[in-house]
Formats: sequence, structure tokens, C-alpha cells
Amino acid sequence: MMTTTRPLAGSSFPLSSVIGMLVFAVTGIALAEPIQLGMPIACEPGRTCYIQNYTDRDPSPAARDYQCGTLTYEGHNGTDFRLPSLQAQRHGVDVLASANGRVIRTRENLPDGAFHKAAREAVRDVECGNGVLIEHAHRWETQYCHLATGSLQVKPGDSVTRGQPLGRVGLSGLTEYPHLHFTVRHNGSIIDPFAFGSSPESCGGGEMLWDPALQARLRYQERSVLNTGFASAPVTMEFIEDGRADAELPSATSAAIVAFVRIIGLKSGDLQRLVVSNPSGNVIAQDNAAPVEHNKAQAFLFTGRKRPANGWDLGTYKAEYTVEHAGQVVLRELWELQVRSH
Ligand SMILES: [Zn+2]
Repeated sequence: MMTTTRPLAGSSFPLSSVIGMLVFAVTGIALAEPIQLGMPIACEPGRTCYIQNYTDRDPSPAARDYQCGTLTYEGHNGTDFRLPSLQAQRHGVDVLASANGRVIRTRENLPDGAFHKAAREAVRDVECGNGVLIEHAHRWETQYCHLATGSLQVKPGDSVTRGQPLGRVGLSGLTEYPHLHFTVRHNGSIIDPFAFGSSPESCGGGEMLWDPALQARLRYQERSVLNTGFASAPVTMEFIEDGRADAELPSATSAAIVAFVRIIGLKSGDLQRLVVSNPSGNVIAQDNAAPVEHNKAQAFLFTGRKRPANGWDLGTYKAEYTVEHAGQVVLRELWELQVRSH
């Protein structure tokens, strides 16, 4: 699945390929030259989008990403750029052509909102949902999945340039959360754009196909904090997805002050801690979650306290979330809440 074949491996070629082969023979430059990719989505990795899954590098029924980590699943054939919430998706995030090319296929009539695994039957054979397939020079292809219904801005035959909007991130096809699934192929074989040319056993080998200017921003993150915030009541996943935390911040009269965090990529053995302190710096709530028992694609945690009899102190409340692994702090996030008199 991860093998790369040279484009000249066939037995007959059109004239242009024969000429190409002669050039190849003279210059010694392989025609299977790497493609250089720009961002396929208009977001800032680590801030407004997060890589939830990489390409599965493991040919067996197990799964591992290109760093031999856990951010993938069996048979996953692309990179998932996840938006932090449904609110962000509703706001609209463009899907972008990641290199110059020509659109060879699109699909755009599928509804958004197949937002559960239970909907698998409904999306059989159309798991990609609304999508765009682009061919590039030297037999490279890129594919963009789960676009919003009615958002496509290109049609087959169109020439596109790198960075050109193709549509918007949606919820079509087999998707449980708002994200762009981005697949790269060369000669029809799946390529991991983070590890071109590496063997399936490699951890961190191969070549990045991303534009060098993007590589620092796309560096591997074992774990990421997707959302943080405060609420005035116990928190649900829907509350986070809808972005209601921003609209319903606790105030001086709130029945409770609750801090929450949603995380991706937790590992077996991780120790999470969430601590909330009041304007005087005293801890008012603390959650030392039990050690994570098995790797988790996603998790969320909240802790808080009911309003004291004499009301809330005004000022700055602070939340701190840490993850320790094998005695080391591997993730730390701080956020604040201003409680005012009105
Ligand atoms: Zn995917």
C-alpha cells in the first residue's frame, strides 16, 4: 500500500513519455520527482486546526503513524485536519488546492451531518462524501473529502492553482467530526506526505512533501489540546462543539464555575490533572483523573465548584491542565476567566 513505483515501469508509452524517458536518461533526474504541497485547508495547525489522524503506515491489522505513534487507525489512507468545533465548521473554513493541477473528479450532492458511526450504511461507497480529486504533474494526485454540501467551487476539467479554494470543510460522507480528509497518491499508490519514500517500518524517515515553509507548523504533535474554557455548569461534548462556552461565560452570580478541556492523542499511562484557582490563587477545584488506560483519540475533562455562600470573589480565575507521562510533563495549557460584578 505504501510502495512507490517509478512512472516508467510500464511497457508502452505515448511519445511524450518516450521523450521524457530520454530526458531522464540524459539528465539522470527521476521523473518521480516529489510534489511540493501547500496547506490543503485554510487554518493554522495547532491553533485553528489539528491533525487528528495520519496515514496508517502499518501493513498489518495494527496501525501506526509515520512517527510510530498512535495518531491513525487501521487502513487510514490520508491526513485528517480537524477543526476544533462544529462552531468553527459553521463559520466556514476553505479547503484549498495544495498544488497546481487539474480537477478530474468531483462529487457534491451529499448532505452534511452523517455525524455518527451509525450512519455508516448511509454513506457506503461514498465515504469521502463531497470531494475533489486533482491530478498534478508527474502522476501525482490529491483528494479532498467531507466537503460541505453546496460549497464546491470547481468542476472536472478546471485548472487550479495552489491555494485556490475548492469548497469548504463539511460533514459529508463518513465523518464523526468536522475535518478535511486529505489523500495523496502517486501512480495510484497511497503516499504519506509526511514520509515520502520511507519504509513501512520507519519512524520519522522519508521526505516531507510539504513546502519547507510549512514544515515547522506541521511538526508532529503527540497530543494536542483542542478546546479549553469555562462554563457555569457541568460540560457536555455538545456544549464544546457548539462553542457555547464563549457565549455563556460564568459571572459573579453563576451557580458554578467549571473549567473544561478537550484533548486528542492521549496515551496509555498518561496522568491528567486539571486545577482551578481563584483570584487569590487558592485552588477551588481539582481533578486528578485516573491514569489513561488505553490510547484515546479524544477525551475531555472538567472540574469546578458550586458558588460559595458568600458569592464569587471578583477577578481572574485560572485553570491549568497538565499531562504527565513517565514522570515528565508532556502537555501543559493555561487559561483564564475574568469574573466581574455585573
Ligand atoms: Zn481521514
